[in-house]
Amino acid sequence: MSSSNPLGVHALVWTGGWSPDEAEVAIASTARAGFDIIEIPALDPSRIDVSDTARRLREHGLAATISLGLAPDSDINSEDADRIALGRRTLLDALAVARGLQASYVGGVIFSAMTKYSGPTTDRARRNSASVIKELAQEAARDDITIGLEFVNRYESNLLNTVQQTLDYMDLVDEPNVVVHADVYHMNIEERGFRAPLLLCADRLGYVHIGESNRGYLGQGTIDFDEVFGALADLDYSGPMTFESFSSAVVDPQLSTTLAVWRNLWSDSMDLATHAREFIAAGMEQARQTRGSRG
Ligand code: MN
Repeated sequence: MSSSNPLGVHALVWTGGWSPDEAEVAIASTARAGFDIIEIPALDPSRIDVSDTARRLREHGLAATISLGLAPDSDINSEDADRIALGRRTLLDALAVARGLQASYVGGVIFSAMTKYSGPTTDRARRNSASVIKELAQEAARDDITIGLEFVNRYESNLLNTVQQTLDYMDLVDEPNVVVHADVYHMNIEERGFRAPLLLCADRLGYVHIGESNRGYLGQGTIDFDEVFGALADLDYSGPMTFESFSSAVVDPQLSTTLAVWRNLWSDSMDLATHAREFIAAGMEQARQTRGSRG
């Protein structure tokens, strides 16, 4: 079933590393499963061989998006100048990877470290973060690259946990190419529901992660996808939707530990991914038809 949203899958569904062989498996499998986009994690931007990956993307007719979370030692949501400087460098390096892959999107937990904090943020740390993101957005705008703020659950950041916090932070950044990146796995933990916060984003929503409550197969957890797809259809959301799922069957030494992927939720990446693509395409199609019949 076709979809009017570009549909993507996170590379960690296929492979935990990014050697040329791993990149080939991930990119070829993404194309074979029928997706338009592969989301490539760039926690360490230097691990991506840009010209090699760009060539493989072209061969398979795929677009890429770039996502990352900052580390505690590169936290821009901080009052420590060294951490902020390293975070700024990492984000600009990730932007350079996006530019080299002709990717139009860099997002994730780019506004803070992706970690469990031992205390709340401070106003000064929040402003430091916003000022780096403002510079990143201005750099990105030169190549028409969009910057996405993925608000996450309280165990993975102390800065942005909800849509409202993200919109307020975006007002502080005040750059037109910065968008809300909504992940229903995180929303399921922190929001009162899906519909009201998604509608609150309006046209500032620019990227969506689709994942189940246990980050396994879609439809086998407690997320109300009728509500999610209904809200996205009512918003006329036409942006990317990317499937995220994590299992101990595929391990990235850095990312899997950060995301607390301790259990095996699946072993067959292709079955998982093709099921997810159909689930999202069919769900959005049905939500659009329901909306159409209501008039
Ligand atoms: Mn996500």
